[in-house]
Amino acid sequence: MTVLDASTSSHRASSAPDDLLSLPVWTDADVAAADLPIIDSQLVSVGGGLGSFALVDLLRIAGVETERLRVLGPTHWPDDSYRYLCESSGLSADDRLRSGRRIDNIWGFPSYALQSAWQERDVKALLRRQPTAGQVNQGIRREAERIGWSAVHAPGSVRVLRRREGGGFYSLLEGVGGALAYRSEFVHLAVGYPALRFLPQLREFRAHFGDNHRFVQVYEPHEHVYRTLVTRPGTVMVRGVDVAAARVLQRLLEDRDTYDAQTRIVHLFSDAADRARFLREWKRLLEPGLSEGWYVAQEGQLVEVLPDVDGRLLARGQDAAGGRLKLGADFVIDATGLDGDVSGHELLSDLMSVSGAVHGPLGRLSVSQRFEVVGTRNGTGRIYASGPIAISELGSADSFGGLVGAAWTICDELAQQGFCDRIGLGRSVAQWMRWLRGRAL
Ligand SMILES: Cc1cc2nc3c(=O)[nH]c(=O)nc-3n(C[C@H](O)[C@H](O)[C@H](O)COP(=O)(O)OP(=O)(O)OC[C@H]3O[C@@H](n4cnc5c(N)ncnc54)[C@H](O)[C@@H]3O)c2cc1C
Repeated sequence: MTVLDASTSSHRASSAPDDLLSLPVWTDADVAAADLPIIDSQLVSVGGGLGSFALVDLLRIAGVETERLRVLGPTHWPDDSYRYLCESSGLSADDRLRSGRRIDNIWGFPSYALQSAWQERDVKALLRRQPTAGQVNQGIRREAERIGWSAVHAPGSVRVLRRREGGGFYSLLEGVGGALAYRSEFVHLAVGYPALRFLPQLREFRAHFGDNHRFVQVYEPHEHVYRTLVTRPGTVMVRGVDVAAARVLQRLLEDRDTYDAQTRIVHLFSDAADRARFLREWKRLLEPGLSEGWYVAQEGQLVEVLPDVDGRLLARGQDAAGGRLKLGADFVIDATGLDGDVSGHELLSDLMSVSGAVHGPLGRLSVSQRFEVVGTRNGTGRIYASGPIAISELGSADSFGGLVGAAWTICDELAQQGFCDRIGLGRSVAQWMRWLRGRAL
């Protein structure tokens, strides 16, 4: 394949012309006629967040040269998006995360706890199995630099992905310098949570009462809720069952412990199975509140939130038995906001309407157990997807461990296609030694 150097084109169009965008399959001549510079890279990973990082880390360690890889995404470092979501949900660099699986070390050894014990010369650190958010970010940065992330990263957003006539794909990248067409045999998609979702009840409440203060979405600034609750007793209603909801609870509990906040928490679950799973997974976190009665796990559907006569908020809906539900609260925090439905994502919805990808359960992209996007194969070309956008019969892999596991499977698939070598024992040991010494690849 030829490479047209993007830097030689001084006046690049900001996007592709409409007649090219309307074509389901692009020929090389179509792209050249549209005056789009073509960049060849055998594999592109679209997203540039933690999912891209997990795969690129593994491929680089397997010996794939930077020239054969490109990461297309808007943020510079792979942890930028994750860090933003953590900070928005109130998680600071010193807060501990839920999982101890390393994402910056494909071997998972040494664990964060062992590393801390070694660095601090303190065996007690071995008991702290979960890392802090800061520790995770630092590790990702260090590893990203070591594997030459800056050399493979191309800034911008991918607008569409098209089958290329003859095999493989085109990814149309739009960035500050204009549009570029990346021509590749393999594409990996890891574009994170498709959209932040504002609940209809939240939108209605704001439209009617103009109050952005007491009913908030977890990914918008809501520090004032915690600050208020440490100064006076109050009730907060929390909705959601994912990691963001757990973060909110963790923060409320810490404020109870640290500042003696007298906060009562009403956690509303719309589904009995979700309630049971959440209480099981976060048992240790929730046990004190359950036994002392200041944490209530309520099942029911929220219909509306209104200002109450006593100046507080009134959440109205239906309880699990179909009866009326009325809950009073000073604040409502909605932590259901990370919408997994890929229809809300321009690139993915286009992939489904034009290139044969299909919806799986929960509105996600259907992938095989080997993480290949169902219905998109083109000659030797394959599209893979990981992270919250993708779902297979085995479920979704939306965690550090899940992303690393997906990366191993995809790497294995790519080895079968002849793209890279499998990481054998000798290479694995040699590469682990390099990782330990921080030696660049
Ligand atoms: C608050 C929070 C805390 C979490 N804590 C933990 C934890 O403690 N342990 C754990 O195991 N997991 C945790 N998770 C889950 C974990 O972070 C996710 O599984 C992971 O970030 C998903 O990686 P990703 O690459 O799919 O998405 P991201 O890391 O979000 O990266 C996706 C990137 O794709 C970019 N993008 C979107 N559209 C396009 C496009 N069209 N073109 C190019 N780029 C695009 C986005 O801008 C973003 O930069 C947490 C998640 C959240 C939200």
